[in-house]
Amino acid sequence: MSSTADTSHTQKELWEQSLAVMPGGLSHPNRRKADDPIYISHAKGSRMWDVEGNEYIDYSMGSASLLLGHAHPDVVKAIQEQASLGTYTASCHTLEVEWAGLIQELIPSAERVRFVASGSEATALAARVARAYTGKTKIIRFQNHYNGWSDLTITGSETPYDEAPGHGVVPGAAETMVVLPTDPARVEEKLKADPEIAGIFVEASGANWGSVPMPEGFLQDLRDLSDKYSVVLIFDEVITGFRWSPGGVQGLTGIIPDMTCMAKIVTGGNPGGALGGKADIMEVLNPRTTTHADRKVVHKGTFNGAPIVAAPAVATLKIVKTGEPHKRANAVAQKIRDGIRVILEEHQVAGAAYGEASTYHIHFGDTPSRDSVEGLTPKDVRGIPASTVYAYQQALLDRGINNMSHLGGITSAAHTDEDVELTLKAIEGSIEQLMSDGLVGRS
Ligand code: PMP
Repeated sequence: MSSTADTSHTQKELWEQSLAVMPGGLSHPNRRKADDPIYISHAKGSRMWDVEGNEYIDYSMGSASLLLGHAHPDVVKAIQEQASLGTYTASCHTLEVEWAGLIQELIPSAERVRFVASGSEATALAARVARAYTGKTKIIRFQNHYNGWSDLTITGSETPYDEAPGHGVVPGAAETMVVLPTDPARVEEKLKADPEIAGIFVEASGANWGSVPMPEGFLQDLRDLSDKYSVVLIFDEVITGFRWSPGGVQGLTGIIPDMTCMAKIVTGGNPGGALGGKADIMEVLNPRTTTHADRKVVHKGTFNGAPIVAAPAVATLKIVKTGEPHKRANAVAQKIRDGIRVILEEHQVAGAAYGEASTYHIHFGDTPSRDSVEGLTPKDVRGIPASTVYAYQQALLDRGINNMSHLGGITSAAHTDEDVELTLKAIEGSIEQLMSDGLVGRS
């Protein structure tokens, strides 16, 4: 697609205007990746264009919400057709039934589905449901695992792990989160000692879409421990769901949680999300429950399951179901990881390239091998100075690459071999720049 840039404003002008109307000029902190943000006018397939006509190969993919690439024709058509039927009526409708049915078919733990308006709502609801169902109050979470921004789940997503990050979180909320390292012995010790544990949340990839991998067998350990101590196991599959496989991490590994939090691909890359779970647990959300009346959960939400989201969601999940997009997206990520290892080796830069499925991560620093960060703590992996991360992101943007966040990227079925070649050249140039600026060390 040739550029159809909206050239009525330069990015500098937009940035100055945005500072006067939004705090820090932003709607989300990660959108200022480096120096000043870029303002995107349109996107198609693997590419996007800013308002000044600069083209980028995109590895954010809508913050991991797009597996099929930008503006997939089936998704666009579904939105257009639904828009012409009326954007919203706040009623029950056919598409929500079809959408929930597709989720039930693909995600093994999703015997019942409740739609919500974002991933953070899915995780906040999961915490409430787990508490209501078990009658207990506390949730075990893991260091650096991001399970949404609400008061109920924010603690532990960054250091210090036992305090709410930032101010304004309701007093006592942090105390309901027991934040542990990913060590099964520590989890069992806590479960044994504390009868108030309602559930365990885990980002099914390991923290931050797998940038901090979990020890081998950890998800199975959590499954076994949850059964042994009768707590609710909750997989946060907001990123991994429909991406690691059509059935997410659970579909790939056969380790089935009790509840699953979904967003991003589940909505076809549109605003919204879903909570899936075992029928008996989800019964607490039945407003006329007779069997679970003593632990009924009140949950509302104007835009839950909105048809304008359900339509592109159904269009996306029908393609996801074939498993075809994963083959391409995974192969692209594999090529990028392999290519980065060669670059690191050739330039003798300390670090590794790793990641699963359609993701890639780089770590700069000492690692056990070129393809692993095993043995490193979340602090080691996520503690790379912000100045280095920003310099790397800016170097990539200058070379036409839009990263996801931190030092990694997300691929889609729309990325081509040409994209991979251009991307590796840009990554090499960026690493060379970091080397000459003294921001990365030698191996
Ligand atoms: N869980 C995980 C694993 C996520 O990556 C995110 C968002 N990046 C969320 C929950 C929260 O989702 P949302 O931003 O839609 O609220």
